[in-house]
Amino acid sequence: MDIKKIRIALDGPSGAGKSTIAKKIAEKLGIVYVDTGALYRTVGLYSIENGISDTDTEGIIASLQKIDLRLAYEDGTQKVYLNGVDVGDRIRTPLGSKYAAAVSKIPEVRAFLLDVQRNIAAGGGVIMDGRDIGTVIMPDAELKVFMTATAEARAKRRCLELEEKGMPQPYDEVLADIIARDKSDSEREASPCVPAEDAILFVNDEYGIEESADFIIDLAAKAVSA
Ligand code: C5P
Repeated sequence: MDIKKIRIALDGPSGAGKSTIAKKIAEKLGIVYVDTGALYRTVGLYSIENGISDTDTEGIIASLQKIDLRLAYEDGTQKVYLNGVDVGDRIRTPLGSKYAAAVSKIPEVRAFLLDVQRNIAAGGGVIMDGRDIGTVIMPDAELKVFMTATAEARAKRRCLELEEKGMPQPYDEVLADIIARDKSDSEREASPCVPAEDAILFVNDEYGIEESADFIIDLAAKAVSA
């Protein structure tokens, strides 16, 4: 199979570097990078901006009827349009992360976001990062990788990322947030963040971004030639 048609499912907990590494891989292979976390963040953003509490499950479910969500890819960058407006970095705040984790526990929200993700996957030539890509969204992907790192290594990386974006946060808070989100993502009933049975487990504490990307590209080459 042509590697440009491959479907790569990249799952794992927050802060393992999935988005940075997936972007690199997409660039190198000439495929599309799909950030599925942005979709949950956008549903969360709607609640934040409309005064719906993150514990108001009924309110969040009702809000889905008012949400029109579209994805666009411009110059290799994903844009999410919420009711016609690009959400940009408004979904990247700590409150946005908290709301994303809350809405992602609701089965109706996951069902709402299923088609948009499957439609993009259908054409192939994608690397999708998320939590349930290998288990639910693309169970027949040619390559599934479950990428993780220790909570401490992930917190350090997240701190650097936030600093670069001009939104610094104390390490202890970032670490606590990561531990809380790991717990919530892995213990929830709806599509918990767990490796697919046929996923390759990749613990990347000791790997840089380039090395991690190259490691997965090697796996992709093997997967399409198998
Ligand atoms: O990947 P990111 O940190 O942007 O994801 C935000 C939140 O969205 C995660 O904490 C997780 O709860 C949820 N999520 C999910 N399934 C996905 C992607 C993200 O439940 N496929």
